[in-house]
Amino acid sequence: MFFALLASLVAAATPLKYSSFEQKPKLVVVIVIDQFRADNLSRYSKRFLPATGRSGEVGGFQYLMSRGAYYPAAKFDVLQNMTCPGHAAILTGSTPSRSGIPINEWFDRAKSKQRYCVEDDQDGVSPRQLQGTTVGDELKNTGASGKVISLALKDRAAILLGGHRADLAFWLGQDGKWMTSKYYTSGLPVWLSKVNEKISATTGKDVSWKTTQFSHPAEIGKFTSLETPYGIEITTDAAIAALQNEKLGMSKSTDLLAVSISSHDIVGHNVGPNAPEMEDLSAHEDRSLARLINAVRKQVPGGLKNVLIVLTADHGVAPRADLMKSNKIDAGFIDQTKLVDQIEDDLSKAFGKRKYITAVESLNFYFTNEALDHVKRLDLENRAKFILAQGAGVAHVFSLTDYLTQNLPTGENARQIQKSYIPGKSGDLVVIPKPFWMETGKPATHMTGYSYDRTVPLILSGPHLRAGVFSEAADLVDLAPTLSFLLGILPPAQSEGRVLSEAIGD
Ligand SMILES: [Zn+2]
Repeated sequence: MFFALLASLVAAATPLKYSSFEQKPKLVVVIVIDQFRADNLSRYSKRFLPATGRSGEVGGFQYLMSRGAYYPAAKFDVLQNMTCPGHAAILTGSTPSRSGIPINEWFDRAKSKQRYCVEDDQDGVSPRQLQGTTVGDELKNTGASGKVISLALKDRAAILLGGHRADLAFWLGQDGKWMTSKYYTSGLPVWLSKVNEKISATTGKDVSWKTTQFSHPAEIGKFTSLETPYGIEITTDAAIAALQNEKLGMSKSTDLLAVSISSHDIVGHNVGPNAPEMEDLSAHEDRSLARLINAVRKQVPGGLKNVLIVLTADHGVAPRADLMKSNKIDAGFIDQTKLVDQIEDDLSKAFGKRKYITAVESLNFYFTNEALDHVKRLDLENRAKFILAQGAGVAHVFSLTDYLTQNLPTGENARQIQKSYIPGKSGDLVVIPKPFWMETGKPATHMTGYSYDRTVPLILSGPHLRAGVFSEAADLVDLAPTLSFLLGILPPAQSEGRVLSEAIGD
């Protein structure tokens, strides 16, 4: 017992040899799958390619799970797990209170309008609302010549992973073609225009994807082409085109390629995580991942031993509320419109007829300027809180004043609020739902800090990383400082996490 304990302490404390630490990866590939909850890897593992195949080919998930440092249950310790704050955390290492991105869209009181997390008055969309730096920014801040490129079907995913100094972030426009913003460049690189020409030539074939790639064709009519494996395939094609045309991993400086797979989230909202379509999609993601990793393996001198690969997700998802209900678990939908009507009625009776709520965004409720001009904030908050607290499925309600005076629900909630609430961006009132309760709209969604929304896989594979399944707690804010350590650069300015040292060795 004593010797076993001693041995484990010695193993954990063994430092990297300097000669080993000195060798830096030539390329970092960060792969994010949108809404890829941690249990996708364990539930569907039988559908994935073997870790290795013929003539040096490697697989996808199985390769990373068996050769990398695998944290099967990493988490985002925040109040509302959504795409913008999730992607903002992955490479900044910071939670919303520091990244400046609390939810996907909030009410901008100064401009009296909704504000999207990557919206930018100057260039349309940009990372200007992201506070602090990313791992890519810090690579650039060293003065090295490495390139940083990020992409996803969703602009917010590509932009927030790329950070402020990305050479290029690109995403899919309404016309089904890749596009970027003036923030990065005035025109698309020639190679990306060529990728777009290829997309034009294949657009008519979307239907064949729909009918042959899902094992449940009866459901297919509900989906658009981007929600099928087609969306995953064109993202992978574009990532490989970026890799090859920008010659990533082939120069002296470390390059960074970040890819987010959006299709998983788009389908997941419509069918819920238990639908067979999600298993099919995961199997397709496995093949696409293998295709990307093998392209990297062939291109980078020395192969995968010189490449650091990360796999994770931006958040999980709740099971469908109807499915939970039919299985005896308390679940349901919170009707925000009805709650607003009740607040308007009650506050009008108490304080005079006027409009009191100007916007509701993802369970964040915002007062009108007129209400704040005529009635004391505390009086408005207290009455509205009382109404919201009566709503079906509501666990807690807190207000701006509660946050400022630290009058918060205790334990996990208090900690998550501290990490997530941003005065002036988050709501004047915020509803925390009971487990398995969610806002009305899509059949399944994610916007809480409960396990199903916050638990995601985290795998790091490559030089200095120990292969194995790690039971230690890993928070997604630990990823950026860990990558920074392995790259020998400063952690991003506002990174909060620790270096995952148990995963590091010669
Ligand atoms: Zn997402």
